[in-house]
Amino acid sequence: MANFRSVDEEFFEDLEETLIGADVGAQTAFDLTEQLRDEVKLQNAKSKAEVSQVVVETLVAHYQAQGVNEDATMHFASDGPTVILFVGVNGVGKTTTIGKLAARYKAEGKKVLLAAADTFRAGATQQLQEWGKRDGVEVIAGEPNVDPASVVYDGVRAAIDQQADILFVDTAGRLQNNVNLMQELAKMKRIISRELPAEPQEVLLVLDSTTGQNAIQQARLFKDSTDVSGIVLTKLDGTAKGGIILPIRNELHLPVKWIGLGEGVSDLQPFDADEFAKSLFGDLLEG
Ligand code: GDP
Ligand code: MG
Repeated sequence: MANFRSVDEEFFEDLEETLIGADVGAQTAFDLTEQLRDEVKLQNAKSKAEVSQVVVETLVAHYQAQGVNEDATMHFASDGPTVILFVGVNGVGKTTTIGKLAARYKAEGKKVLLAAADTFRAGATQQLQEWGKRDGVEVIAGEPNVDPASVVYDGVRAAIDQQADILFVDTAGRLQNNVNLMQELAKMKRIISRELPAEPQEVLLVLDSTTGQNAIQQARLFKDSTDVSGIVLTKLDGTAKGGIILPIRNELHLPVKWIGLGEGVSDLQPFDADEFAKSLFGDLLEG
């Protein structure tokens, strides 16, 4: 009975508040809390530890229910280079994620090339080149302001000629002009597929978890105009806003493949639904 007192109405109110604070969305927070009340009763969970278990299981189930037939693994070409295109608005972490992933796959023994197809921002190519230097991988780049599609072409040709395993393509993300941006991405994809019919294997949409509802808005926009194959959710360090994964999943049915946890080369992890559910409630469940 002493234990039972800790899982009272106040607990569920805190839980709902935590969910809202984590950006899962008000309706989802309400629905989940209702569901958790029932689950806790049903499973006769009384101690904090038991309730924690139910909370995490319910969240993971909620996450997975939306992702039936969904595939969170990375896809690679069965032979020849794999092309992975990174899309997303400025500042979300595309270039940084490429730098991290390039290091990771290089360490696995893969030959990696980078294409600097963000040719609009001064410094964008340079930033990718710095990552290339750090990772010890070659960067294919063009003159400032060249057609980004030409850099993509050069990158794909280099990947074929050098028998690279993976080509990561960095792109620009100017939000001011969506139509142009989407046309540009479509053009890049056409050029890739012309040279390598099975590519790109992946179009990863990078979203900044600290931007809340904006991230969902962006996901909607990109999903409507290009075949996004997965999501990279960045900047989960220093924010409790990881709950944004739920509305993205529930509405858009896109798998989160990677999460960014800092600016360093090793601050990237494959997404894990159990870990995610636990981290969302860390304080509440330990308290
Ligand atoms: P891009 O415009 O999409 O290419 O974004 P960048 O890769 O240039 O990243 C923008 C800023 O966000 C840079 O200062 C990065 O160091 C930072 N950044 C990227 N990913 C993360 C992350 O997971 N955590 C944190 N704290 N910062 C990140
Ligand atoms: Mg960039």
